[in-house]
Amino acid sequence: MGGRRCDVDLPIAVNPGPQPALARGSPLPLAGATPEEVAVALGDREPRYRARQVLAWVHKRGAKSLADMTDLPKLLRERRAGDLLARTTAILARHPSDDRTVKLLVGLADGESVEAVLIPEGDRWTLCVSTQVGCGMACRFCATGTMGLRRSLTAAEIVEQALHARDELAGESPDNLVFMGMGEPLANWPALRRALEVLNAPWGTGIGARRMTVSTIGFPERIRDLATLGLEVNLAISLHAPDDDLRTALVPPNKGVGIRELLDAARDFHERTGRRVTLEYVLLAGVNDSPDQARRLAERVRSLGAFVNLIPMNPVAGLPDRASDPATVQAFRRALRAAGVECEIRRQRGDDIAAACGQLRLAAAPGASLDGFPGERRPEPDSRG
Ligand code: SAH
Repeated sequence: MGGRRCDVDLPIAVNPGPQPALARGSPLPLAGATPEEVAVALGDREPRYRARQVLAWVHKRGAKSLADMTDLPKLLRERRAGDLLARTTAILARHPSDDRTVKLLVGLADGESVEAVLIPEGDRWTLCVSTQVGCGMACRFCATGTMGLRRSLTAAEIVEQALHARDELAGESPDNLVFMGMGEPLANWPALRRALEVLNAPWGTGIGARRMTVSTIGFPERIRDLATLGLEVNLAISLHAPDDDLRTALVPPNKGVGIRELLDAARDFHERTGRRVTLEYVLLAGVNDSPDQARRLAERVRSLGAFVNLIPMNPVAGLPDRASDPATVQAFRRALRAAGVECEIRRQRGDDIAAACGQLRLAAAPGASLDGFPGERRPEPDSRG
Protein backbone atom coordinates (compact mmCIF):
# COMPACT_ATOMS: atom_id res chain seq x y z
CA MET A 1 0.00 0.00 0.00
CA GLY A 2 2.98 2.24 -0.37
CA GLY A 3 2.81 3.60 3.17
CA ARG A 4 2.37 7.13 1.95
CA ARG A 5 0.77 9.59 4.29
CA CYS A 6 -2.60 10.61 2.93
CA ASP A 7 -2.48 14.08 4.42
CA VAL A 8 0.39 14.76 2.10
CA ASP A 9 -1.24 13.40 -1.04
CA LEU A 10 -4.68 14.79 -0.69
CA PRO A 11 -5.84 17.99 -2.26
CA ILE A 12 -6.62 20.79 0.11
CA ALA A 13 -10.34 20.25 -0.24
CA VAL A 14 -10.06 17.10 1.86
CA ASN A 15 -9.34 19.07 4.99
CA PRO A 16 -12.39 18.24 7.10
CA GLY A 17 -12.87 21.87 7.96
CA PRO A 18 -13.72 23.21 11.37
CA GLN A 19 -14.85 20.52 13.80
CA PRO A 20 -16.79 21.33 16.92
CA ALA A 21 -14.26 21.23 19.71
CA LEU A 22 -14.53 18.45 22.27
CA ALA A 23 -12.40 19.74 25.08
CA ARG A 24 -11.31 17.55 27.97
CA GLY A 25 -14.03 17.27 30.51
CA SER A 26 -16.66 18.35 28.02
CA PRO A 27 -19.79 16.24 27.50
CA LEU A 28 -19.35 12.86 25.78
CA PRO A 29 -21.64 12.19 22.81
CA LEU A 30 -22.37 8.53 23.47
CA ALA A 31 -23.40 7.63 19.91
CA GLY A 32 -19.84 8.21 18.71
CA ALA A 33 -18.12 6.46 21.62
CA THR A 34 -16.64 3.00 22.12
CA PRO A 35 -17.40 0.95 25.25
CA GLU A 36 -13.87 1.70 26.45
CA GLU A 37 -14.42 5.45 26.17
CA VAL A 38 -17.76 5.22 27.92
CA ALA A 39 -16.18 3.16 30.70
CA VAL A 40 -13.54 5.83 31.23
CA ALA A 41 -16.21 8.53 31.31
CA LEU A 42 -18.27 6.52 33.83
CA GLY A 43 -15.30 6.17 36.16
CA ASP A 44 -13.95 3.37 38.34
CA ARG A 45 -16.90 3.12 40.66
CA GLU A 46 -19.23 1.70 38.05
CA PRO A 47 -19.25 -2.05 37.30
CA ARG A 48 -17.64 -3.27 34.11
CA TYR A 49 -20.91 -4.04 32.36
CA ARG A 50 -22.19 -0.49 32.76
CA ALA A 51 -20.69 0.95 29.58
CA ARG A 52 -22.32 -1.66 27.37
CA GLN A 53 -25.59 -1.25 29.24
CA VAL A 54 -25.53 2.47 28.48
CA LEU A 55 -24.62 1.89 24.83
CA ALA A 56 -27.41 -0.67 24.44
CA TRP A 57 -29.82 2.03 25.58
CA VAL A 58 -28.36 4.47 23.07
CA HIS A 59 -28.24 2.18 20.05
CA LYS A 60 -30.93 -0.44 20.61
CA ARG A 61 -33.43 0.91 23.10
CA GLY A 62 -34.03 4.39 21.75
CA ALA A 63 -32.93 6.38 24.81
CA LYS A 64 -32.82 10.11 24.13
CA SER A 65 -31.07 10.94 27.37
CA LEU A 66 -29.52 9.32 30.40
CA ALA A 67 -32.79 9.92 32.21
CA ASP A 68 -34.48 7.46 29.85
CA MET A 69 -32.17 4.64 30.95
CA THR A 70 -34.46 3.40 33.66
CA ASP A 71 -32.34 0.50 34.90
CA LEU A 72 -29.34 2.68 35.70
CA PRO A 73 -28.86 3.77 39.31
CA LYS A 74 -30.87 6.90 39.94
CA LEU A 75 -27.86 8.82 41.23
CA LEU A 76 -25.90 8.08 38.05
CA ARG A 77 -28.78 9.23 35.87
CA GLU A 78 -29.21 12.44 37.79
CA ARG A 79 -25.55 13.32 38.17
CA ARG A 80 -24.34 12.50 34.70
CA ALA A 81 -27.28 13.53 32.52
CA GLY A 82 -25.48 16.72 31.54
CA ASP A 83 -22.24 15.15 30.39
CA LEU A 84 -23.17 11.76 28.93
CA LEU A 85 -25.27 12.69 25.91
CA ALA A 86 -27.45 9.98 24.37
CA ARG A 87 -28.37 12.39 21.56
CA THR A 88 -26.65 15.56 20.44
CA THR A 89 -29.07 16.08 17.54
CA ALA A 90 -32.83 16.41 17.21
CA ILE A 91 -35.32 16.04 14.38
CA LEU A 92 -36.43 19.53 13.33
CA ALA A 93 -38.80 18.42 10.59
CA ARG A 94 -39.89 15.34 8.69
CA HIS A 95 -41.10 15.41 5.10
CA PRO A 96 -42.93 12.31 3.91
CA SER A 97 -43.02 11.79 0.15
CA ASP A 98 -45.79 10.28 -1.95
CA ASP A 99 -43.56 7.25 -2.54
CA ARG A 100 -43.09 6.69 1.25
CA THR A 101 -39.61 8.21 1.21
CA VAL A 102 -39.12 10.33 4.32
CA LYS A 103 -36.67 13.19 4.51
CA LEU A 104 -35.52 14.07 8.01
CA LEU A 105 -34.08 17.45 8.87
CA VAL A 106 -31.60 16.80 11.66
CA GLY A 107 -30.70 19.75 13.85
CA LEU A 108 -27.20 19.90 15.30
CA ALA A 109 -26.24 21.42 18.65
CA ASP A 110 -24.62 24.49 17.08
CA GLY A 111 -27.70 25.44 15.07
CA GLU A 112 -26.55 23.83 11.81
CA SER A 113 -28.60 21.06 10.26
CA VAL A 114 -28.30 18.23 7.76
CA GLU A 115 -30.69 15.95 5.97
CA ALA A 116 -31.09 12.18 6.17
CA VAL A 117 -33.44 10.28 3.89
CA LEU A 118 -35.27 6.99 4.52
CA ILE A 119 -36.06 5.25 1.26
CA PRO A 120 -38.45 2.28 1.02
CA GLU A 121 -37.85 -0.66 -1.30
CA GLY A 122 -40.65 -3.15 -0.83
CA ASP A 123 -40.55 -3.95 2.89
CA ARG A 124 -36.91 -2.91 3.22
CA TRP A 125 -35.56 0.50 4.12
CA THR A 126 -32.40 2.23 3.02
CA LEU A 127 -31.13 5.18 5.00
CA CYS A 128 -29.11 7.83 3.21
CA VAL A 129 -26.92 9.71 5.69
CA SER A 130 -24.96 12.96 5.56
CA THR A 131 -21.35 13.30 6.65
CA GLN A 132 -20.85 17.06 6.41
CA VAL A 133 -22.87 20.27 6.58
CA GLY A 134 -22.62 21.33 2.96
CA CYS A 135 -19.75 20.02 0.86
CA GLY A 136 -16.48 21.39 -0.43
CA MET A 137 -16.29 19.28 -3.60
CA ALA A 138 -18.47 21.61 -5.71
CA CYS A 139 -19.68 19.01 -8.22
CA ARG A 140 -21.31 21.00 -10.99
CA PHE A 141 -24.73 19.32 -10.82
CA CYS A 142 -25.10 18.89 -7.05
CA ALA A 143 -27.27 21.09 -4.84
CA THR A 144 -25.23 20.44 -1.70
CA GLY A 145 -22.08 21.61 -3.48
CA THR A 146 -23.55 25.07 -3.89
CA MET A 147 -23.51 25.53 -0.10
CA GLY A 148 -19.77 25.08 0.23
CA LEU A 149 -18.40 23.25 3.25
CA ARG A 150 -19.72 24.62 6.52
CA ARG A 151 -18.30 21.91 8.72
CA SER A 152 -17.78 18.18 9.06
CA LEU A 153 -20.07 16.11 11.25
CA THR A 154 -18.81 14.32 14.33
CA ALA A 155 -19.06 10.54 14.47
CA ALA A 156 -21.96 10.88 16.89
CA GLU A 157 -23.81 13.21 14.51
CA ILE A 158 -23.43 10.65 11.73
CA VAL A 159 -24.49 7.69 13.87
CA GLU A 160 -27.43 9.57 15.36
CA GLN A 161 -28.99 9.82 11.91
CA ALA A 162 -29.34 6.04 12.05
CA LEU A 163 -30.79 6.32 15.56
CA HIS A 164 -33.39 8.82 14.37
CA ALA A 165 -34.19 6.43 11.53
CA ARG A 166 -34.71 3.65 14.07
CA ASP A 167 -37.20 5.89 15.85
CA GLU A 168 -39.03 6.34 12.52
CA LEU A 169 -39.02 2.57 11.95
CA ALA A 170 -40.46 1.69 15.36
CA GLY A 171 -37.14 0.57 16.77
CA GLU A 172 -35.89 -1.42 13.76
CA SER A 173 -32.61 -0.48 12.13
CA PRO A 174 -32.74 0.40 8.44
CA ASP A 175 -31.77 -2.58 6.26
CA ASN A 176 -29.18 -0.66 4.30
CA LEU A 177 -27.22 2.47 4.96
CA VAL A 178 -25.65 4.57 2.22
CA PHE A 179 -23.31 7.53 2.74
CA MET A 180 -24.89 9.46 -0.10
CA GLY A 181 -26.38 12.41 1.71
CA MET A 182 -24.76 15.79 2.16
CA GLY A 183 -20.99 15.95 2.15
CA GLU A 184 -17.99 13.96 1.00
CA PRO A 185 -17.49 11.04 3.41
CA LEU A 186 -13.79 10.54 2.68
CA ALA A 187 -13.12 14.23 3.36
CA ASN A 188 -14.31 13.55 6.92
CA TRP A 189 -12.25 10.44 7.43
CA PRO A 190 -11.70 10.19 11.20
CA ALA A 191 -15.40 10.69 11.94
CA LEU A 192 -16.44 8.38 9.10
CA ARG A 193 -14.14 5.61 10.30
CA ARG A 194 -15.47 5.84 13.83
CA ALA A 195 -19.08 6.02 12.63
CA LEU A 196 -18.62 2.89 10.51
CA GLU A 197 -17.16 1.06 13.49
CA VAL A 198 -19.99 2.08 15.81
CA LEU A 199 -22.78 1.50 13.27
CA ASN A 200 -21.44 -2.00 12.63
CA ALA A 201 -20.43 -3.09 16.13
CA PRO A 202 -22.57 -5.58 18.07
CA TRP A 203 -22.32 -3.19 21.05
CA GLY A 204 -23.37 -0.35 18.70
CA THR A 205 -26.12 -0.05 16.12
CA GLY A 206 -25.35 -3.51 14.70
CA ILE A 207 -25.87 -2.85 10.98
CA GLY A 208 -23.98 -5.38 8.84
CA ALA A 209 -20.94 -3.87 7.12
CA ARG A 210 -22.02 -5.44 3.83
CA ARG A 211 -25.22 -3.43 4.12
CA MET A 212 -23.34 -0.14 4.23
CA THR A 213 -22.02 1.75 1.19
CA VAL A 214 -19.60 4.64 1.25
CA SER A 215 -20.09 6.85 -1.79
CA THR A 216 -17.22 9.15 -2.70
CA ILE A 217 -15.77 11.26 -5.47
CA GLY A 218 -12.68 9.21 -4.58
CA PHE A 219 -9.40 9.97 -2.88
CA PRO A 220 -7.05 7.09 -3.67
CA GLU A 221 -5.23 6.95 -0.34
CA ARG A 222 -8.44 7.16 1.63
CA ILE A 223 -9.95 4.39 -0.48
CA ARG A 224 -6.98 2.26 0.51
CA ASP A 225 -7.51 3.24 4.16
CA LEU A 226 -11.13 2.15 3.84
CA ALA A 227 -9.99 -1.18 2.40
CA THR A 228 -7.75 -1.83 5.39
CA LEU A 229 -10.36 -1.07 8.04
CA GLY A 230 -11.28 -4.72 8.29
CA LEU A 231 -14.95 -3.91 7.69
CA GLU A 232 -16.57 -5.31 4.59
CA VAL A 233 -18.30 -2.09 3.60
CA ASN A 234 -19.15 -1.39 0.00
CA LEU A 235 -17.48 1.32 -2.04
CA ALA A 236 -19.25 3.44 -4.64
CA ILE A 237 -17.19 5.90 -6.67
CA SER A 238 -18.84 8.87 -8.31
CA LEU A 239 -17.08 8.76 -11.66
CA HIS A 240 -19.46 10.62 -14.01
CA ALA A 241 -17.09 10.87 -16.97
CA PRO A 242 -14.88 8.65 -19.16
CA ASP A 243 -11.97 11.09 -19.36
CA ASP A 244 -10.14 13.47 -17.07
CA ASP A 245 -10.96 16.75 -18.81
CA LEU A 246 -14.67 16.17 -18.54
CA ARG A 247 -14.46 14.70 -15.03
CA THR A 248 -12.51 17.71 -13.81
CA ALA A 249 -15.17 19.99 -15.29
CA LEU A 250 -17.87 18.09 -13.38
CA VAL A 251 -15.97 17.10 -10.23
CA PRO A 252 -13.28 19.75 -9.70
CA PRO A 253 -11.06 17.85 -7.20
CA ASN A 254 -10.41 15.33 -9.99
CA LYS A 255 -7.74 17.76 -11.15
CA GLY A 256 -5.42 16.61 -8.39
CA VAL A 257 -6.26 12.93 -8.69
CA GLY A 258 -7.17 11.66 -12.13
CA ILE A 259 -9.28 8.73 -13.22
CA ARG A 260 -6.38 6.34 -13.67
CA GLU A 261 -5.15 6.67 -10.10
CA LEU A 262 -8.70 6.47 -8.84
CA LEU A 263 -9.44 3.25 -10.72
CA ASP A 264 -6.14 1.80 -9.47
CA ALA A 265 -7.29 2.46 -5.91
CA ALA A 266 -10.67 0.91 -6.72
CA ARG A 267 -8.87 -2.17 -8.01
CA ASP A 268 -6.82 -2.38 -4.80
CA PHE A 269 -9.99 -2.04 -2.77
CA HIS A 270 -11.59 -4.87 -4.71
CA GLU A 271 -8.55 -7.12 -4.37
CA ARG A 272 -8.15 -6.45 -0.70
CA THR A 273 -11.80 -6.75 0.37
CA GLY A 274 -13.28 -9.00 -2.28
CA ARG A 275 -16.12 -6.49 -2.52
CA ARG A 276 -17.29 -5.49 -5.94
CA VAL A 277 -16.93 -1.77 -6.52
CA THR A 278 -19.84 0.30 -7.81
CA LEU A 279 -19.28 3.23 -10.14
CA GLU A 280 -21.88 5.98 -10.13
CA TYR A 281 -22.53 7.93 -13.28
CA VAL A 282 -24.99 10.82 -13.31
CA LEU A 283 -26.31 11.32 -16.83
CA LEU A 284 -26.30 14.97 -17.91
CA ALA A 285 -27.95 15.92 -21.18
CA GLY A 286 -25.44 16.48 -23.95
CA VAL A 287 -22.51 16.40 -21.53
CA ASN A 288 -21.59 12.81 -20.69
CA ASP A 289 -24.43 10.75 -22.14
CA SER A 290 -23.44 9.79 -25.70
CA PRO A 291 -23.03 6.15 -26.82
CA ASP A 292 -19.45 6.95 -27.71
CA GLN A 293 -18.80 8.10 -24.14
CA ALA A 294 -20.43 4.90 -22.92
CA ARG A 295 -17.98 2.88 -25.01
CA ARG A 296 -15.00 4.88 -23.77
CA LEU A 297 -16.21 4.45 -20.21
CA ALA A 298 -16.51 0.71 -20.77
CA GLU A 299 -12.97 0.52 -22.08
CA ARG A 300 -11.61 2.11 -18.94
CA VAL A 301 -13.65 0.24 -16.35
CA ARG A 302 -14.32 -3.19 -17.87
CA SER A 303 -11.34 -4.94 -16.34
CA LEU A 304 -12.29 -3.68 -12.89
CA GLY A 305 -15.43 -5.81 -13.03
CA ALA A 306 -17.33 -2.97 -11.42
CA PHE A 307 -21.07 -2.46 -11.49
CA VAL A 308 -22.15 0.85 -12.97
CA ASN A 309 -25.10 2.66 -11.47
CA LEU A 310 -26.56 5.10 -13.99
CA ILE A 311 -28.27 7.96 -12.21
CA PRO A 312 -30.75 10.10 -14.13
CA MET A 313 -29.89 13.63 -13.09
CA ASN A 314 -32.26 15.16 -10.61
CA PRO A 315 -33.00 18.76 -11.45
CA VAL A 316 -31.44 21.43 -9.26
CA ALA A 317 -32.74 24.96 -9.65
CA GLY A 318 -30.02 27.41 -10.58
CA LEU A 319 -27.56 24.81 -11.89
CA PRO A 320 -26.84 24.56 -15.62
CA ASP A 321 -27.23 20.83 -16.33
CA ARG A 322 -30.37 19.01 -17.31
CA ALA A 323 -31.39 15.37 -17.18
CA SER A 324 -30.81 13.23 -20.25
CA ASP A 325 -34.05 12.14 -21.86
CA PRO A 326 -35.14 8.55 -21.14
CA ALA A 327 -34.27 7.28 -24.63
CA THR A 328 -30.71 8.60 -24.26
CA VAL A 329 -30.42 6.95 -20.86
CA GLN A 330 -31.56 3.62 -22.35
CA ALA A 331 -29.15 3.97 -25.26
CA PHE A 332 -26.28 4.69 -22.86
CA ARG A 333 -27.13 1.59 -20.87
CA ARG A 334 -27.32 -0.52 -24.02
CA ALA A 335 -23.94 0.73 -25.21
CA LEU A 336 -22.33 0.02 -21.84
CA ARG A 337 -23.77 -3.47 -21.70
CA ALA A 338 -22.82 -4.22 -25.27
CA ALA A 339 -19.27 -3.26 -24.30
CA GLY A 340 -19.28 -5.78 -21.46
CA VAL A 341 -20.08 -3.63 -18.42
CA GLU A 342 -22.88 -4.51 -16.06
CA CYS A 343 -25.08 -1.57 -15.24
CA GLU A 344 -28.49 -0.54 -14.06
CA ILE A 345 -30.49 2.66 -14.01
CA ARG A 346 -31.15 3.90 -10.52
CA ARG A 347 -34.75 4.55 -9.69
CA GLN A 348 -35.59 8.07 -8.68
CA ARG A 349 -37.08 8.41 -5.22
CA GLY A 350 -38.33 11.26 -3.14
CA ASP A 351 -37.94 13.88 -5.83
CA ASP A 352 -41.25 15.49 -4.87
CA ILE A 353 -39.68 16.42 -1.52
CA ALA A 354 -36.24 17.31 -2.93
CA ALA A 355 -34.80 14.22 -1.27
CA ALA A 356 -33.35 12.60 -4.37
CA CYS A 357 -29.61 12.31 -5.02
CA GLY A 358 -27.96 15.68 -5.27
CA GLN A 359 -31.02 17.62 -4.15
CA LEU A 360 -30.14 17.91 -0.50
CA ARG A 361 -29.60 21.52 0.28
CA LEU A 362 -30.82 23.53 3.19
CA ALA A 363 -33.17 26.26 2.24
CA ALA A 364 -32.43 28.50 5.17
CA ALA A 365 -29.39 29.80 6.98
CA PRO A 366 -28.54 28.44 10.43
CA GLY A 367 -30.54 30.02 13.18
CA ALA A 368 -33.47 30.64 10.86
CA SER A 369 -36.56 28.67 11.64
CA LEU A 370 -37.30 25.98 9.12
CA ASP A 371 -40.64 24.45 8.34
CA GLY A 372 -42.43 26.02 11.18
CA PHE A 373 -39.93 25.05 13.86
CA PRO A 374 -39.63 28.34 15.63
CA GLY A 375 -36.96 29.78 17.80
CA GLU A 376 -34.49 27.73 19.78
CA ARG A 377 -33.10 24.87 17.72
CA ARG A 378 -30.53 23.57 20.14
CA PRO A 379 -31.51 20.07 21.19
CA GLU A 380 -31.87 19.58 24.91
CA PRO A 381 -30.06 16.32 25.45
CA ASP A 382 -31.18 15.84 29.02
CA SER A 383 -34.76 16.97 28.71
CA ARG A 384 -37.38 14.31 28.27
CA GLY A 385 -39.19 16.38 25.70
N1 SAH B 1 -19.98 13.12 -1.99
C1 SAH B 1 -20.29 11.74 -2.20
C2 SAH B 1 -21.61 11.30 -1.61
C3 SAH B 1 -22.80 12.23 -1.72
S1 SAH B 1 -23.53 12.43 -3.33
C4 SAH B 1 -20.25 11.42 -3.68
O1 SAH B 1 -20.11 12.34 -4.48
O2 SAH B 1 -20.29 10.25 -4.03
C5 SAH B 1 -24.26 10.89 -3.74
C6 SAH B 1 -24.42 10.69 -5.24
O3 SAH B 1 -25.39 11.61 -5.78
C7 SAH B 1 -23.14 10.94 -6.01
O4 SAH B 1 -22.95 9.95 -6.97
C8 SAH B 1 -23.43 12.27 -6.67
O5 SAH B 1 -22.65 12.49 -7.81
C9 SAH B 1 -24.89 12.14 -6.98
N2 SAH B 1 -25.54 13.40 -7.34
C10 SAH B 1 -25.17 14.64 -6.97
N3 SAH B 1 -26.00 15.55 -7.53
C11 SAH B 1 -26.90 14.88 -8.25
C12 SAH B 1 -28.03 15.26 -9.04
N4 SAH B 1 -28.38 16.54 -9.17
N5 SAH B 1 -28.73 14.28 -9.64
C13 SAH B 1 -28.39 13.00 -9.50
N6 SAH B 1 -27.37 12.57 -8.75
C14 SAH B 1 -26.61 13.49 -8.14
